Amino acid sequence: MNLDEILKDAEREFAAAASLPILDQVKARYLGKSGAIPSQMKTLGALPAEERKAAGARINQAKDQVETLLRGRRDAIQAAELERQLAAESLDVTLPGRGEAVAGLHPVTRTMQRIEALFASIGFEVADGPEIETDFYNFTALNIPENHPARAMHDTFYLEGGNLLRTHTSPVQVHYMQNFMKLAGSPQAFLSPSGGERHEAAISGGESLPPIRIIAPGRVYRCDSDVTHTPMFHQVEGLWVDESVSFADLKGILTDFMARFFERDNLPVRFRPSFFPFTEPSAEMDIGCVICEGAGCRVCSHTGWLEVLGCGMVHPNVFGHVGIDAERYQGFAFGLGVERLAMLRYGVDDLRLFFENDMRFLKQFA
Ligand SMILES: [Zn+2]
Repeated sequence: MNLDEILKDAEREFAAAASLPILDQVKARYLGKSGAIPSQMKTLGALPAEERKAAGARINQAKDQVETLLRGRRDAIQAAELERQLAAESLDVTLPGRGEAVAGLHPVTRTMQRIEALFASIGFEVADGPEIETDFYNFTALNIPENHPARAMHDTFYLEGGNLLRTHTSPVQVHYMQNFMKLAGSPQAFLSPSGGERHEAAISGGESLPPIRIIAPGRVYRCDSDVTHTPMFHQVEGLWVDESVSFADLKGILTDFMARFFERDNLPVRFRPSFFPFTEPSAEMDIGCVICEGAGCRVCSHTGWLEVLGCGMVHPNVFGHVGIDAERYQGFAFGLGVERLAMLRYGVDDLRLFFENDMRFLKQFA
């Protein structure tokens, strides 16, 4: 085989090599130990000495040409592979971005924050308490002794060891007043249970207690589930205790709150006598229907009125449980359903929508 034929074959085979592994095989056929070029080198020994040098030079030249073919083909294959990879992993920069979804507050959270802000603006502070309660805080301390019929209306989830999930946020007022009285009698500077300094010295003798003005928002639980009841819902409890708090204050505060909450200047209100074990006297507060403006509609059962909260003057027995002198101090308390106010404010007619987490519903409030 002469060198020209070898080079012609090499040119064809290198050009046909489609991948790096095949290229390596072709390379071995020409440049490997027993490849075509080294085999030519081995024939030099048989040549006469005067021809050897020229023949050797021609073989080396051929070897260079083969190596050039190899490099050229390797570059081409690598370039083609890179091209293929780029095409496969390419980004379409004209596609719209995935974007950051704008999150929004849940309508119940928005309503709770609105209630907190309105009460904060007239000096109420926010108090917190446990959701797992003892029988004492959830019932007994609130003047609901064992076997009291009111317990039947508060059927809840009982835990091992006699604890339960609180059925209302009213236990927070008991915790708060207990801590309040503990701190009031301590020799240290008097601090409010939530930390703000209220008074410089311990309360003693005939000195008056500073007023208690709190709201307690939070989750509560009942064994109930239908269009207007869910096993978990939110309440805001309110409490104002002072030496001269009267039912007139209760009416004034709550009337003003409802008018501001629903943004109605002359929102009609009425208070109907009611019963709660922990208040005496007790009342249900109604407001003029904010859907039909009193004309009568499905939401207000065609009465023109909406029941929005329960309230009353703190029962002396509740003060007795926390050591506040019921002869000297009075207070009013109220409890309202957050979902109820959210439904009225936003015109939602099924309570369960708040807890289904359907984005189509929730997005309307974002
Ligand atoms: Zn109505």
